[in-house]
Amino acid sequence: MPIARALLSVSDKTGLLDFAKGLAELGVELLSTGGTAKHLKEAGLKVIDVSEHTGFPEMFDGRVKTLHPKVHGGLLQRRDNDEDKKNAQKHDIPVIDLVAINLYPFEQTVAKKDVTLEEAIENIDIGGPSMLRSAAKNHRWVTVISDPADYTVVLEELKENKGDTTLATRERLACKVFQRTSSYDAAIASFLNKEAVTQKTFSLSLPLHSELRYGDNPHQKSALYGNFSDYFVKLHGKDLSYTNILDVHSAAALIHEFRRPTVAILKHTNPCGVGCADEDLREAWSKAFETDKQAPFGGVIVINRSMTVGLARIISEIFTDIIIAPDFDADARALLQKKKNLRLIQMLPEVTKTFSDPIIRSAPGGVLVMDSDPRALGLEDLENKVKTQRPPTRDELEAMRFAWRVVKHVKSNAIVFASHDRTLGIGAGQMSRVDSCRIAVWKAKEAGLSLEGSVVASDAMFPFADGLIACAEAGATAAIQPGGSVRDEEVIAAADERKMAMVFTGYRHFLH
Ligand code: 5GP
Repeated sequence: MPIARALLSVSDKTGLLDFAKGLAELGVELLSTGGTAKHLKEAGLKVIDVSEHTGFPEMFDGRVKTLHPKVHGGLLQRRDNDEDKKNAQKHDIPVIDLVAINLYPFEQTVAKKDVTLEEAIENIDIGGPSMLRSAAKNHRWVTVISDPADYTVVLEELKENKGDTTLATRERLACKVFQRTSSYDAAIASFLNKEAVTQKTFSLSLPLHSELRYGDNPHQKSALYGNFSDYFVKLHGKDLSYTNILDVHSAAALIHEFRRPTVAILKHTNPCGVGCADEDLREAWSKAFETDKQAPFGGVIVINRSMTVGLARIISEIFTDIIIAPDFDADARALLQKKKNLRLIQMLPEVTKTFSDPIIRSAPGGVLVMDSDPRALGLEDLENKVKTQRPPTRDELEAMRFAWRVVKHVKSNAIVFASHDRTLGIGAGQMSRVDSCRIAVWKAKEAGLSLEGSVVASDAMFPFADGLIACAEAGATAAIQPGGSVRDEEVIAAADERKMAMVFTGYRHFLH
């Protein structure tokens, strides 16, 4: 059946006129709410006010405009049900075949600085979502548009399909409605409940960003939801995979700890090496790469300055999966783009905002939610956190700060040996801390680096003295760790015996 009657009620009037004109040309009767009707009438279109249609004025400052049985009955009645038809006739409720609605801009309103609670509340749309839901529920007969981007598609289809839409289109549009209304309600809930992590119920509705080729393994399907492209732009290469996205996230979080020109190389979300320099990124690269020349094969490189052609030339000699930078100099990009299997990702400055987003993971029957861990905590006032007889030298303090920023991004149990501007050995993800120490020492040896005079960072307390002793025997002269073990005294005594300097940050940075 061709569409005979449409209801238009939109806050965002983009594309509205062309759409309404197209409908009018197809002979569709237009119903509309106050502001929308005015807009259409000014453009010379024939429109019936909803208040005229229902016989009720818009009331309470627009809080009640379309909440009326003549609107919802028009949307919800079943066209193949005799009882519905009789009821509709008895109460004079004509069918409404199409609705185009977009909601009060709640998200934009609460994103404004200094928004008042009253302003936010008034921007909670009630009638709009109700109509969208009624129409979407009855999509077997009703076409529902919640996004101006669908105006043209629908209009084209009406022209080609004797004035009606196809069921497949109506299904697609209905699905879009429930995604939209649930994300709208989630935005309201999270605004009203500032303590997102302790909400009584958890709801999250994000649009599908893209289906990914697979997950950890080829037999696991996977998909990405949300607004990833607001923060990372792929400039070159194949689509990102599930594990690529995890790596990109870890790489961006790590590099944002550093202000000086820095290069980090990661594999499977763990850093293989990190280096800083005063100016030259190539120097930072050498320090990062020298930590481990084997593991970076097929890894991720991240830098916090624009990629220069000088660095690009060096990097292009090894096989890398992804390079992430705030920008790429034109000649660097041209050079790197010659590699088909390399992905170049631009990291936009807004990404820093995402580091304070709560962290969500699946749990049996639900999800786990926790606050983010956005900063390396415990570095302020280190001089007053010394636990050993010997205080750290200035160089050691600087190395502690560097190592602590890196160790926070290494999977637990994490051990990092470093000097003031480079990693020397990294031990990640072991079930026993002493094993992480041994691995870090062994990696440094493999790389031909000396740990004499280095600093060691441990993401959580040393539960026994053995780990610290292994580090001291390898050459570390200072240690940074949170403290808090029942055996702290034993660990401090082991450090003193070896003339080490040790600070307790008071914060740990487990990464599970
Ligand atoms: P207009 O500019 O046409 O006056 O209003 C359009 C907006 O009002 C749309 O965003 C629509 O979702 C919303 N709307 C339609 N009916 C109602 C209602 O009964 N109550 C409320 N609060 N909003 C409505």
